Amino acid sequence: MLSYQHAYHAGNAADVHKHALLALALDYMARKPKPLTYFETHAGRALYNLSGAEARKTGEAAAGIARMEGWFAPDHPYARALSEARAQGGPDAYPGSPLVARAQLRGDDRIVLAERHPQEVAALRDALPVAEIHDADGPALALSLTPPDPRRGFLLVDPSYEVKTEWSAIPTLIAQVRRKWPVGVLMLWYPLLASGAHRELTGKLEAMGPEGTARSEVRFPPAREGHGMIGSGLWVANPPWGWDEAARALELRFALLRG
Ligand code: SAM
Repeated sequence: MLSYQHAYHAGNAADVHKHALLALALDYMARKPKPLTYFETHAGRALYNLSGAEARKTGEAAAGIARMEGWFAPDHPYARALSEARAQGGPDAYPGSPLVARAQLRGDDRIVLAERHPQEVAALRDALPVAEIHDADGPALALSLTPPDPRRGFLLVDPSYEVKTEWSAIPTLIAQVRRKWPVGVLMLWYPLLASGAHRELTGKLEAMGPEGTARSEVRFPPAREGHGMIGSGLWVANPPWGWDEAARALELRFALLRG
């Protein structure tokens, strides 16, 4: 049984990095008047409560979005997702990636989400009834449903890396999906760990070559003493126009925070 629950981590510094660049990418893609598919392999519950016991226990949102929200102007696509989530869930609500995506998408775009944890699936269905929600293994679903219809689209792969084999299985999945769906925009999130365990994954991504890809990594102080996550990484295939520039600007924000 999976034990990871994103409610303990929602709104942390890694979420700010991931969700801000996800929002910018989809905002740009949605400017073209052609429907698209938004697909996620590891969706979570989509709507989080930052005043809940889980968020208060870790203090990660306090060290993340609570400190960083001022980086984003009210017309930034991420700020739009934050205010839509609050309209839906109250002043302490925080949008997970499916709601960050929905805030950028149009009525004729398709949203396909996989989530494995039964409690999270139920909450996801409440938070985002318009989406196609699969209580299924996300990587297997990505392999069976890509290329999607509409073919123009975006895949977010955001595992919890709870299972050690994910470090090698996820790059293999990415390579397989890229072959099946060469025009898809694929975004993979990974943590930077003090232990260096993520290097198996980044090494495999590098071995695929840089062609048609982009990366962004930021570092931040551990949210609490002894916490192993010291940064956040994103790897993207077919990055939308403007992604690199937005990533560099956000990286600078994180660097200035560290002094
Ligand atoms: N993408 C979410 C966001 O940014 O708001 C957070 C996702 S969280 C890091 C990872 C999620 O993947 C958890 O909710 C976990 O239950 C789920 N999960 C773990 N293994 C899975 C699998 N094989 N297929 C689908 N979901 C899985």
